Amino acid sequence: MYILLMGPPGAGKGTQAERLIEKYGIPQISTGDMFRAAVKSGTPLGLEAKKHMDNGTLVPDEVTIGIVRERLAQPDCRKGFILDGFPRTTAQAVSLDAILRELDIRLDGVIQIAVPNEELIQRTTGRLICPTCGATYHIVSAPPKQEGICDKDGSALYQRDDDREETVRQRLEVYGSQTKPLIDYYKNSGHYVEINGLQSMDAVFDDIVSALEKND
Ligand code: ADP
Ligand code: ADP
Repeated sequence: MYILLMGPPGAGKGTQAERLIEKYGIPQISTGDMFRAAVKSGTPLGLEAKKHMDNGTLVPDEVTIGIVRERLAQPDCRKGFILDGFPRTTAQAVSLDAILRELDIRLDGVIQIAVPNEELIQRTTGRLICPTCGATYHIVSAPPKQEGICDKDGSALYQRDDDREETVRQRLEVYGSQTKPLIDYYKNSGHYVEINGLQSMDAVFDDIVSALEKND
């Protein structure tokens, strides 16, 4: 199963990817997670990415496309993957088409999770992440059992630097101008589906799975 998960910051891509990994046993490829890991280990890629992430702008296409190209060539991607947060620009989408052609892969589903901006601000500003396992929580809609502590491994949860309201608003602007136009790019591909992301996490997941299995 080759899946593209699209949607604005905070739409629920990571949350749904966690469930899709479990259901289909395929890896999640999140450019945001890859950049955060690089920032944490202080590599040159991390230093470059951090400047853009802190401002709520996009990491340059050449850098982003390079890391995705490398990642998709890994053997664990042969049986499928969930691309989360890539592509985010037309140049990235065009490069992805070329990479997929080289690998002889066809996407099974392009899933757009649609959520209005005011809700996205609530979701991102309340988001909490586990530094150890990457699990995502929300202070209101998905709180951990014990405040500030990961249910799975007991680590102290943290808030992403770029989840402050001001940066989120900037990210939403960037989404509208650079990423939203990709909806038209994929709309004619036949495997494009828009899901109502305002539903519960379970209902969103059910809709995604039915869309993917209908496309089969
Ligand atoms: P969210 O899950 O809120 O949509 P991500 O974790 O996917 O956010 O991305 C965080 C940041 O990482 C982005 O604001 C951007 O700076 C950078 N980033 C992630 N993916 C890409 C991409 N495909 N192209 C450029 N920058 C990216
Ligand atoms: P993205 O990867 O698209 O940026 P996340 O999956 O990290 O989004 O979700 C953003 C925040 O919203 C998280 O705190 C998550 O727990 C919460 N969330 C995700 N899906 C829903 C939903 N359907 N209803 C309410 N809150 C949600």
